[in-house]
Amino acid sequence: MSDDIKIEDIPFRSDVIPAILDPNSDIKFNCYKGISCYNACCKHADITLTPYDIIRLKEATGKASTEVLKDHTVPFTMDADGMPGIKLRTTDEGACLFMDEDVGCSIYGNRPTACRYYPLGNLSMKKTDAAHENQHFVLVKEDHCKGHEEDRSINIQDYRKEQGVEDYDKNNLEYFQLILKKKSMGPGVGRPPEMSLQLFFMACFDMDRFRRFALSDAFKQTYKLDEDLYNNIDKDDVELMYFGFRLLRHVLFGEITLPEQEDAYKKRMEERKEIYELRQKIEIERIKQKDPYMSYKLEVESEQENKDSKK
Ligand code: SF4
Ligand code: SF4
Repeated sequence: MSDDIKIEDIPFRSDVIPAILDPNSDIKFNCYKGISCYNACCKHADITLTPYDIIRLKEATGKASTEVLKDHTVPFTMDADGMPGIKLRTTDEGACLFMDEDVGCSIYGNRPTACRYYPLGNLSMKKTDAAHENQHFVLVKEDHCKGHEEDRSINIQDYRKEQGVEDYDKNNLEYFQLILKKKSMGPGVGRPPEMSLQLFFMACFDMDRFRRFALSDAFKQTYKLDEDLYNNIDKDDVELMYFGFRLLRHVLFGEITLPEQEDAYKKRMEERKEIYELRQKIEIERIKQKDPYMSYKLEVESEQENKDSKK
């Protein structure tokens, strides 16, 4: 197992402690319509979703991201800093809302990553600066799943192909890198500001709302980006998702991933100065009502500060 990966980093969790496998490992497993436990896994669904899963759920349901989130997901926090995550919504008994007793998964072609991998969990999280992706998997055995008793041995690579996870892996990678980087920074960095957490949620999961934000005049006045890029993110959810990851690296980790308009920094500083001065005036007025000496002192100090800042 790679030094970079720990059991607590596993994105898809189970109560069962798994064994670590590599891509060439064989597993003994089969799942098919008619097996005695058919749908049992979907009646105990605990499915953590990725941004790419949301794009596929949009495709499956024909809904905008805000509606997908409202109708089909529940929020949870991924760490003590309140990083927002989402899971598939279930009934009170834990059954997935997309499960159909007769046909099984009603969104099979667009089912989420964790559903495709089950009973495997994917630990393949390449660090940004690592030369190669370290592929590791875990096999989860739960009592209700009888697929492990079937007489079929299959290589993990072949199982991944069978389940169509390649597109999902490709499009989930940057998201997992982002989470891993945030996690590896440790508690010393502190909790990101509330605005950054909200931006993380919007860019990762509520991408239609994020699109409106990224195409707004205020955004364009801040960042200097090609018109082609704006056209791409307007039309394509996957492009928009990758753009969101770029912006989040900028906001969360201070990486220079997006060029700013030349005067954006200056304008921000001017706006902050105006707000600061306004607050100062309000505070002076408030104190004046209560304490004449303090009001005199503050006015003198404020005047002095203004003179100093003009030097
Ligand atoms: S999305 Fe489909 S495969 Fe996944 S838990 Fe729901 S019904 Fe089962
Ligand atoms: S074999 Fe396992 S994965 Fe397949 S239907 Fe049964 S419980 Fe679900």
